[in-house]
Amino acid sequence: MAETSKVGHLLERLSQGVAAHDRENPEHHTWGIGMAYFDIERLGLEEGEEILPGIVLRGDGGMTGQFRILCDGQHDGSAAEEEEEAVDAVAEQEVPAEPLPARPVTPPL
Ligand SMILES: [Zn+2]
Repeated sequence: MAETSKVGHLLERLSQGVAAHDRENPEHHTWGIGMAYFDIERLGLEEGEEILPGIVLRGDGGMTGQFRILCDGQHDGSAAEEEEEAVDAVAEQEVPAEPLPARPVTPPL
């Protein structure tokens, strides 16, 4: 289960990103948000869930710490870049400190 406050903050960032994209590209239809599987997992989200009304969360092979607006429109290289927004502000506190597994020390013979 995701923590409500952090997800609320994330959703705000996502909807802002979608709104910015749609404002710049009014002829595009936005249908999804792409996020690295790693981020989806550490944020406690589910791939395929409807993260915003009409917008589905998709795991992609993209950079962690960012999300991508998925739309049916065409972008040239430069336009797509600014749609990537950092999710690290939200995500970084989510990573649990995983203790390294204790390794038995083999005494020298
Ligand atoms: Zn677009």
